[in-house]
Order: sequence, then C-alpha cells, then structure tokens
Amino acid sequence: MKRIKLLDKNLINQIAAGEVVERPASVVKELTENSIDAGATKIEIAISNECRNIRIADNGCGIDPDDIELAFSKHATSKINAVEDLYSLGTLGFRGEALASIISIAKVTCITKQATNTNGTKALCENSNVIKTPTGCANGTTMEIEDLFYNLPARLKFLKNEKTEMAYITEMVQAIALSHPEIAFTLKHKNSTTVQTFGTSNLLYAISEIYTPNLLDELNKIEKKDELSNLEVTGYISNPSYTRSSNKSIYLSVNNRIVKDPLMLKTISNVCQNLLPKGKYPFAVINLNMPTEDVDVNVHPTKKEVKYKNPSQIFNFIYAALNEALSGHSNFIQQTPYEVKNEVQTSFQSKPFEEKITPSFAKTTNIFSQGKKEFSNFNDCVYIADKPKVSTDVAMKIYEKSEIVEQKSFDVKVEEVESVKIIGQYANTYILVDNGDNLEIIDQHVAQERYLYEKLKEEREISSQVLLFSDIIDLEPADVETLRKNYDILQKFGYGIEFLSNKEITFRKLPSLIASRSPKELVASLLDEIYNTNGTIEDKILISMACRGSVKAHTVLLPNQMEDIVRKWRTTKQPTTCPHGRPISKKIPKSEVASFFLRP
Ligand code: ADP
Ligand code: MG
Repeated sequence: MKRIKLLDKNLINQIAAGEVVERPASVVKELTENSIDAGATKIEIAISNECRNIRIADNGCGIDPDDIELAFSKHATSKINAVEDLYSLGTLGFRGEALASIISIAKVTCITKQATNTNGTKALCENSNVIKTPTGCANGTTMEIEDLFYNLPARLKFLKNEKTEMAYITEMVQAIALSHPEIAFTLKHKNSTTVQTFGTSNLLYAISEIYTPNLLDELNKIEKKDELSNLEVTGYISNPSYTRSSNKSIYLSVNNRIVKDPLMLKTISNVCQNLLPKGKYPFAVINLNMPTEDVDVNVHPTKKEVKYKNPSQIFNFIYAALNEALSGHSNFIQQTPYEVKNEVQTSFQSKPFEEKITPSFAKTTNIFSQGKKEFSNFNDCVYIADKPKVSTDVAMKIYEKSEIVEQKSFDVKVEEVESVKIIGQYANTYILVDNGDNLEIIDQHVAQERYLYEKLKEEREISSQVLLFSDIIDLEPADVETLRKNYDILQKFGYGIEFLSNKEITFRKLPSLIASRSPKELVASLLDEIYNTNGTIEDKILISMACRGSVKAHTVLLPNQMEDIVRKWRTTKQPTTCPHGRPISKKIPKSEVASFFLRP
C-alpha cells in the first residue's frame, strides 16, 4: 500500500462534482434552483458551445461581497444551520456543494449585486480558486459557466451530442418552470428561444406556454386538501383520450421541488391502468404540498428523490385526488377494479373544513378570476407580466377552464347559521370566542370530536376508502384476537382488516374520515377504546373514529377552520362534554373580567 495523504481541494470538489453534475442539464438545475432560492422572479438561461457554456441570469437577492469565497466553498450554504433544518426546509438547495463542484470542473464568472450595495462583485473562478473584484452591474446574479468538463476528458467523452444534451436541458427547464409558474423563465439555445414563460402564477397559462394551447381542452383539475394531515395536491391530468407514449410528460413536484418519485408514478399508473391502453401515459403536472418534517429530501446528492415518513398515506391521498379528478369519465367508473369511486365519499367526512374554504384557484394570484363581465380587461392583466403573445383564442380557453373550475368549487352547500365571532387561537389548542356576555374558551379537539361522534351516530352507512397499499402492523396475539372477535362489526363501520398471522394485521379499507391517518395510530386508538371505555362496542368504535378524525391539539388553525368547528359543535345535542366525558368549553362572564379590572 502507498502512504496516505490528504487530497487537494480541487480534487475533493471534482469527486463531489461526480455525484452532483452528471451532465450540462445538472448544472442548469443547480444554478436555476439557486436563483429560485434567491427569490428571483425572472430567470434567463442561455446555452452555447455544444451545451458546455451555460449562462444563467437572475434578478434575485444577489450575494454579499464578503460571502463570495464562501459561496464557492464546499459545505458552505446560507440555507441551513443544523441538521434539524433539513426537516423544515424552505429552499431547494441545502447541501452547499453545487457551486464548489462546478468551479472544479468548469471556468466560472459570477457577477452579482445586492440591492442594498452600490457596487457589485465579479468573481473569476478556475480550478477551485476564486478571484474577486468590484464591478458595476444590475441587482441579481449572473453565473457564466464555460468549457464544462474541460479538465475531465473522461466525463467529456460521455457527453451525448448537442441535440441530446439540449433536449435534457429543455426537459429540465420545462419541469422547473411548471413547478414555479410564478417565475418568468427563458431558455435560449444559440439564437433561438426554446422555452419561455411569463411568470403569471397561473399553471394553466404556463402549460399553454410550454405545450400547445390545445392541450388545455384535455385537462382535468386536480385539487384535494386534507386539513388534518396538512396534505394538499394540486395540478392537472389529461383526459383518458389524450395519451403520450412515455412518462416524460408527467411532471411531479413535492413542495415545489421537482422530483422523480416512484411512489407518485405508481399511484398514477394504478389510477390509469383501466383507463389507458398499455404503454400509454397521461400528461400531468402534479404538486404535493406537505409538512416538511414528513418528507426527507436529503436522500441523494441531486435532491431528485424524496422519502416519505408515511408512504401509504401519500399513496392513498393522491390516489383519491386523481380518482376525483378523473371521475367524470364514465368508462373509468365502470372499469375500476376496486370500486373506489363508490367508496370514496366526498361529504363532510373526508373534508371537514371544505365548506368555508376559498377555492384555491381564487386564492393563488389569479389573473383570470375576475368574472366574465370584466373579460375586456383580461388582456391588460396578462400583459402586466411582460409581452406574452397570447391569442384571444387561448386566453378564452384558459378563462373558460378557470370559470368551470370556480363554479365546481363553489357548488357546495353552505349551512345558514348564526355568526361566530372568533378572537383567535390560544396555545394552538383552544379557540377563543367573543360571545358578547362572556369570553368562551373552546378545546378544538374535543369540540370537533363531539360533533363527529354525533354525526357518525346518525349516519346509516359509514363510507370507507379502499387502501391499495398499507403497512403491516405488529400486535400482541391478544390484541389480534380482540380485533378478530369484532371483525364483523368493525367491517360494518368501514374497517377492512386482513389478519396476516396471529401477530400481524393490515388494513385493506378504512373509514373515509380517517383513511389518511397512520394505521398504527388507528389500531392503538381502537384497542384503547375497546379495553378502556365504557359502553357498547359500536359506541367504542365510533368514539375512536371521531377522536382520530378530529383536529389534534397543538394544530394551527385558520380563522375559517375555527369558525367551522365552533359552528358545527354548537349544533350538537350534548355540547358540554366530549364522548369521553371531558369538558369542551369554559365561559368567563364579562362581569367577572370587568370586576377584576375594577370596572363598574
Ligand atoms: P446551496 O444551494 O446548497 O446552499 P450552492 O453551492 O448551490 O449551495 O450555493 C452556495 C450559496 O451561494 C448559497 O447558499 C447562496 O447563499 C449563494 N448563492 C448561490 N447562487 C446564488 C444566486 N443566484 N443568488 C444569490 N445567492 C446565491
Ligand atoms: Mg444550490
């Protein structure tokens, strides 16, 4: 063996570059993500020299002159401080290795300026060395990458021809642009513009810019939200009549980070298996928003893969969302093997807060939501972004599509009830209400639990959702026996249990209300109620269901969610206690408050 020695900085960076920079498209991805993280609203990308020269200009926050050397050093990032930050990431980057890798395998010029500085900085980087000088320039950052892989002949040899590499880059930019319709992207190759979006925030508009406007006729809106697990999926999927021969037109993102996610792809393929001929795929743009702590993005250096804490929950949630989006297609309903359409129900149970929520289409910066009579202003609205060359025909299409979506979202029953004056939330657990004569403090969990319990009791049939994918749960043999003994009654209430051994079970079906909850938690709750609560077995099951279906303590609620809980709780027959006997609300009379403050 030779003696051990420390590798030099450039070599260390080149080794890291091996993982991060596979081809020119990887450089485009890393630099574009940096621009997005910098808050840019406009990103221009220009490609030349057989895809080995890449220039990316943004109007983001720029880099502080004192941070330039750090920005190009390995393991230097402004985006995280501690390992826990990985689970509350609000940025696409976090590894602090892209720039360090790139300057070890290409010649890089960075010109950057922060709005608060008068001067900008120019940094010349080669072989991992950085030389900086002050310069005059616009706010934002421009990165010019030249001669990619110039010092790595082996990598250079593996590059495909210009057309193929350009195709990879174009696909990458299209995917990123669809995951960020609020940002204006331009991709130029030599003298022609390959991708151009205007950053209108409207996904349909971005789709029409990237694909053909005719595609809009084929799209179904995907929109599903689960307030309890904080999951939200949005996007579009094409009609079964419109197919593609590869899955390249399926654009997936998690928290607006583009991902290659086998789980989501499998969900799509399961939903579509009876809809599309073999070997055909839909067009789809799907973004899943979920709590950052429930998804690990640090699985691979390219950050394209993610790992979910609860994959079966994600599968079932997206399955239900796609199923709803495509449910208008009658052949689908007939052919679906699992009868999911009949079993997934969309009444109050699966969406306890839906009635009062503003349709998300109207919530996003929506240039089309102003209503038909203002349609004459439509073009003006679009032209704010820049100069999109949109024909009236296309504009009309997007407008019509938007209107249909809005009508659908508004088509829900809103109960007429007295108004509730919500003051706010205390400790993310209690709702404070101004009742005029008193201040009322309501425990959010038990108030909703009481309502759901009574509502479930009234329901003749409890709807259930088929799970195509569910965890195996290890239990004590005695617990398995208890469940087996109550199999029929549990089945009646929507729990489809499969007994795998005397120590293992799995759920094949769950009541819709709690289908997105962790199966382990559900079994524990069921057994707890069966063993420890008084009453009939029916009651115990309903209590467990109402409890698991209710919003937990320490959950931040929006004002309309609080109002919804209070309104519904007030309609209950026994509003004083929850089914376990815990008090629900405490009133403090106004006179008591006044007397404390020595007011007459
Ligand atoms: P990461 O994105 O993982 O932090 P990078 O090596 O990609 O690592 O970037 C290092 C740092 O350089 C970033 O954390 C950021 O502070 C800064 N930076 C990179 N690109 C830009 C940009 N376009 N605008 C502003 N700051 C940038
Ligand atoms: Mg980065």
